[in-house]
Amino acid sequence: MKVGRMSDVTSWIRHGVEMRRPLFVHESLPLSDKIIIVGGGLSGMSCAYRIAQKRPNLEVVLVEKSPHIGGVITTWSEGEWVCDLAVNATRAHPAFWRLVKDLHLANEFNPSQARAKSRWVLLNGKRHRLSPLSLLKIGPFKLLKSIRKARSGGASVAELLPHKQIADALTLGIVNTTSEHVDADFLMPSMTRFGPSPPLKGSKLKKQIAASYPLFTPERGAVASFDGGMQTLVHALQSQLESLDNVTIITGQEVESPESTAKQFDVPLSSILWTAPVVDKGREQTKLSVFAVGYRDSDVANVGYGYGTLIPDASIPISGILHESDLHHSKRAPNGHRLFRIMAPHTRWEGDEKEIQKSIERLLSKEEPVLFRNLGVQTIPSYPPGYLRDLSFDSEGCSFAGWGVSGVSVTHVVDEAERVSELF
Ligand SMILES: Cc1cc2nc3c(=O)[nH]c(=O)nc-3n(C[C@H](O)[C@H](O)[C@H](O)COP(=O)(O)OP(=O)(O)OC[C@H]3O[C@@H](n4cnc5c(N)ncnc54)[C@H](O)[C@@H]3O)c2cc1C
Repeated sequence: MKVGRMSDVTSWIRHGVEMRRPLFVHESLPLSDKIIIVGGGLSGMSCAYRIAQKRPNLEVVLVEKSPHIGGVITTWSEGEWVCDLAVNATRAHPAFWRLVKDLHLANEFNPSQARAKSRWVLLNGKRHRLSPLSLLKIGPFKLLKSIRKARSGGASVAELLPHKQIADALTLGIVNTTSEHVDADFLMPSMTRFGPSPPLKGSKLKKQIAASYPLFTPERGAVASFDGGMQTLVHALQSQLESLDNVTIITGQEVESPESTAKQFDVPLSSILWTAPVVDKGREQTKLSVFAVGYRDSDVANVGYGYGTLIPDASIPISGILHESDLHHSKRAPNGHRLFRIMAPHTRWEGDEKEIQKSIERLLSKEEPVLFRNLGVQTIPSYPPGYLRDLSFDSEGCSFAGWGVSGVSVTHVVDEAERVSELF
């Protein structure tokens, strides 16, 4: 397995702290004449796009089990209501900006609304605004001590950030589970100093990374999104892949294993890049239901404009409320209305929609919503403490990518695809 070929300054400027994350790529993958990518989510699509673009003489086959590609990324719409079911916006990373530019999506990609910067956490029934200073609630000495301890590796986020409610709010918002169940190295490798360290001072590196963004330089802490939701990205990637002569997309075909895929396509095992979930290796997943809820402006006038609220209190069936129509540059609700996305983890909610309605009545408005839709169930991989340290596919003979191994967010999978293609 390669841990990334280059650890030089140029690579650190291109990929930033992603350089801390290992690549699980078999050394013979770049020598293949034909590669089979299993899984047509953002990871498989980005890997196919980057590799096929770089090596036009290499045959790339993308195999997806469902009838369409895009993986967990789906955007629901009904009239003027538009709501993503999974990721709705991206944090800043130059690899993501480069992908947007290469897909000619610059006009449809915009920073989030400045007025929607606030994030809250509901503690003891009250909303508290989250900021980097929230971490000081832990106490600077206690925090420093726990960070130092976590640097020995394999710690949970609860051990890294010893304030249960803040740590839970953070992990619930990202991976749908509480902090004692989440690997600190996987979520925050810079804080735990997992992997190699940058070859230059952090502040210098940050400056050079900021100067490397195409399109526009994002403001600190800002997110950006697509007009029409994340499906805009998936559709553009799909049409680029379809236009490449060396790419074949096969949908509606579930493959069993890397070995059976190699046999079926008559390639060596080392030509398989597996981006589908790795649950078969005893890695669990958690589930949550997603609801779109719309109100008249006047009925939610007391709800501040912002990104959303995280709810660590497990007695409430909702773990998060995202203010979809506040956040995005493009319209997500009819004029005079606001749209909220509600997340209900199945560890807290047993399926009675009345429970959700009661909670939103308490948390958002006593008035009836004008829209209440259950958009379905989403699945998120589990990353228990020690996950990244113990990840090893050396005996597998093929390569692995995707959010099971790269990191939870879209920036991780998109940057990983670039790093994989740089090996070719
Ligand atoms: C509710 C939710 C909220 C999220 N919020 C954010 C966010 O705010 N910000 C952010 O950056 N990220 C967020 N994410 C994460 C982001 O969506 C993922 O990082 C990214 O989409 C993962 O892409 P992937 O290709 O690795 O995986 P997937 O999208 O899971 O794709 C894997 C693909 O493999 C296919 N497959 C599985 N088994 C087989 C098989 N045997 N044969 C063939 N194909 C197979 C699947 O059908 C699927 O299409 C969120 C995710 C969810 C679910």
